[in-house]
Amino acid sequence: MLNIVLFGPPGAGKGTQSENLIKKYGLLHIATGDLFRKHLGEGTELGKLAKSYMNAGNLVPDEVVIGMVEDKIKLNLDAKGFIFDGFPRTVNQAEALDVMMKKNGLIISGMIELEVPNDELKKRIKERAKVSGRVDDQDEDKINNRLKVYAEETLPVAGYYKQIEKYAKINGVGSINDIFGQIDTVVKAY
Ligand code: AMP
Repeated sequence: MLNIVLFGPPGAGKGTQSENLIKKYGLLHIATGDLFRKHLGEGTELGKLAKSYMNAGNLVPDEVVIGMVEDKIKLNLDAKGFIFDGFPRTVNQAEALDVMMKKNGLIISGMIELEVPNDELKKRIKERAKVSGRVDDQDEDKINNRLKVYAEETLPVAGYYKQIEKYAKINGVGSINDIFGQIDTVVKAY
């Protein structure tokens, strides 16, 4: 069973490459940002709780995210595999993911980091803002805060996967097909 963590800053192309992996391997997509936006749109309690964090570009508290992911895994234990996109975003979340996978008889195959320089990320996020309607894509300060939060709180997660020898890094600048080819080479070796 393939269980992939697709990792990288906002705008790195995680959503796009997740779609490619899903098409090829039939994995179930667990994109925490998308799940939160769905809750927000439906006005659920969880959505109300997450809203202020998301709109400011800050992380939603770990226990909220972890609970939401665990529910999603438990409901989909018949899936061919999972692709985690935008999760884990803290070392605490990475540890919790290992525990919940193990509890369900599963294991992470590996993490793949998409590396993209900040100026390119900002360009892509501003382009996406024209169609995404996302509050957090619209404003320069919010974008900068998300990149700062990524550098400070999320990048250490790469170190976690390096330590357990489940880490690969790919240059996320280039054509979507070329980047997918590189991702797929890593996945085929799992
Ligand atoms: P994304 O669509 O992945 O860029 O996520 C949008 C926003 O949702 C983030 O800026 C956070 O506020 C929140 N979020 C998504 N995933 C997580 C996570 N794993 N941990 C904490 N907050 C998250």
